[in-house]
Amino acid sequence: MQELSDNDNGVSSVVEKQRKFFASAQTREFTFRSDALLRVEKYLVNHREQLLQALAEDLGKPALEAFLAEYYFLLQEVRLIRKGLKKWMKPKKVKTPIYFQPCKSSIVREPFGITLIIAPWNYPIQLAVSPLIAAIAAGNTVVLKPSEVSTASEQFLTEMVAECFDEKHVATVTGGVDVAQRLLETKFDFIFYTGSTEVGKIVAVHAAKNLTPVVLELGGKCPCIIDETVDLDMAAKRVLSGKFFNAGQTCFAPDFVVVHDSVKDAFVKACENLFADTPWHQEMASIVNEIHYLRLQKMISEKECIQQGEDRPVELFMAPRLIPETTWSDEVMQEEVFGPVLPILTYQDGDELLSRLADFESPLALYLFSKNEQWLASVLSTLPSGGVCINDTMKQGSSLELSFGGVGASGYGRYRGLVGLDSMSYERAVVKRYEFSFKAMDIIPPYGKAYTALKKWMK
Ligand code: NAD
Repeated sequence: MQELSDNDNGVSSVVEKQRKFFASAQTREFTFRSDALLRVEKYLVNHREQLLQALAEDLGKPALEAFLAEYYFLLQEVRLIRKGLKKWMKPKKVKTPIYFQPCKSSIVREPFGITLIIAPWNYPIQLAVSPLIAAIAAGNTVVLKPSEVSTASEQFLTEMVAECFDEKHVATVTGGVDVAQRLLETKFDFIFYTGSTEVGKIVAVHAAKNLTPVVLELGGKCPCIIDETVDLDMAAKRVLSGKFFNAGQTCFAPDFVVVHDSVKDAFVKACENLFADTPWHQEMASIVNEIHYLRLQKMISEKECIQQGEDRPVELFMAPRLIPETTWSDEVMQEEVFGPVLPILTYQDGDELLSRLADFESPLALYLFSKNEQWLASVLSTLPSGGVCINDTMKQGSSLELSFGGVGASGYGRYRGLVGLDSMSYERAVVKRYEFSFKAMDIIPPYGKAYTALKKWMK
């Protein structure tokens, strides 16, 4: 692990080491990449309990949530990438226009080089390791900066990287915003950033200075629209299970619900029934730190809530809540909630709702509950979003077969499984010709009658 003091240049020295190593071309070899992935896989398997423990310390994550969303998710992803790597690395042969013959053309996927990954705290291990494995599988080296907020996970990641890699291949750099900023002042060949939209804009500005390609995985408010045609018990169950997973601290969680006026009371009743017999208040994650705990408390302070159980401020545990009388101008509607609070609003006219939602920044996810195909089609064609899930929540963001990413203010670039390798590499167009060529195709003056002949042929 590289620790930075005010005046050392630890970042430049690690980047320098990685630059030399990358130039040696070892990271391009299939066996080198595959072995590195296998080490990560084995480390995860052998340190499962430590991983779950770190997440319990940082966020009070229930073991089942940590197991599914971080441990098992990563294990599946690293296995999938290892299995598909050889085929993915093969140059893709493409056709060559007849006038260049004889000739071979192909697309070769090349690594960018030295990659910077900056990770957030909400899924602190998954969102650091998932881009890490994509980056090394694509043949890059990596400098990883975990979130300074989730300290136990930061420690886990530092130990994992130290045991699995030489720092000339992968290194962690720990620290807060000052360290992140210093990293951004260094020239990298690729940047993968996950975090808030506000900081994403800062990252994009730094990247632009060196024309460094960047993936931005950002946040925002993901709407959930429920019309009058669906089973409301089913909708309530699927909305609340998505909302309260990780205590709402999920970038693609349903942020708020807009329910058709005619079924609003029935929907709230269905949620209350669930509160009566589903013990989220006993098995839900906590809020990551006091700053976010106080932010959430302030956000809802003026509103009447339906709450399950009690807050436990010492543990930073915030009881799950509904705000059944939310209005569009409430504080809770002015920023991403990112906590176990569900604002509920209503609509009467679908077109009016769509024009209101179109004024919001494009979200990472859109959730629709409806049996009305026409309505679904019109919402989908009006509101852009990184992903969509119909009649459930969060499923589109939990599949390795579907790419993940935002649009507009929720970010750009995508990853997950082999798509991550595409993002962390570039396609190089390679053409190979031979000494022999047809004389007519040597385009050198004097052109004589060649133009007249070509015009007839090339129509
Ligand atoms: P954050 O932007 O505060 O921090 C993320 C990382 O950026 C941390 O490593 C932090 O050290 C660094 N950072 C913070 N300020 C910085 C600055 N001024 N300059 C450079 N780097 C800086 O985000 P967070 O609070 O860790 O995460 C919550 C946000 O991330 C939410 O908005 C959430 O929606 C979003 N998020 C998005 C995804 C996604 O995949 N799209 C996933 C998780 C979280």
